[in-house]
Amino acid sequence: MARYRESVCRLCRRERMKLFLKGDRCYTDKCAFERHSYPPGQHGQGRAKFSDFGIQLREKQKVRRMYGLLEKQFRSYFAAADRQKGITGANLLTLLERRLDNVVYRLGFANSRAQARQLVRHNHFLVNGKKINIPSYLVNVGDTIELKEKSRKILQIAEALGAVARRGIPQWLEVDTENFRGIIRLMPSREDVTMPIQEHLIVELYSK
Ligand code: SF4
Repeated sequence: MARYRESVCRLCRRERMKLFLKGDRCYTDKCAFERHSYPPGQHGQGRAKFSDFGIQLREKQKVRRMYGLLEKQFRSYFAAADRQKGITGANLLTLLERRLDNVVYRLGFANSRAQARQLVRHNHFLVNGKKINIPSYLVNVGDTIELKEKSRKILQIAEALGAVARRGIPQWLEVDTENFRGIIRLMPSREDVTMPIQEHLIVELYSK
């Protein structure tokens, strides 16, 4: 499948905000955005003038890149959110939050969603006792996410669990670090997504 293979820090600079795509590095002064907070490229430091379409597009790209999705995948989340009852933009964000790779990241087993996705793909987690290696698997209330016994010594997971305090665990999740387990207490709500996102712009973009 097509994947973005260039420096992910360019994406933060393009979106003019920190998207926290690189784990530990994002919290240090090595963060590329801290050093160059303007878009990459020859004209990056020029004055940017966006049309309405441009503003909507950037908002969509920002969220898509935060969750590491391709356009087609992102569109299908939007279509699913639109079919649900309630506010489409909020539905979209809560659907994205329910992805298994995001939950593994939020629980602190990984330093970034990309790392979480790789760990899920490599069969390190059980959901309700069953092997699930699908990053897009949508969790439900009451689900238990557990790191497999033989994966508990992986250094990058230990490091991630040691560093999770700085970003905190959202209230819809509960983590039991001693037993390498997390539980979905509640469905995530719009308020649980604390990054500055104006989801109504995404709805406007896709409603054209
Ligand atoms: Fe973005 Fe992290 Fe790179 Fe900083 S270090 S630019 S937050 S991906």
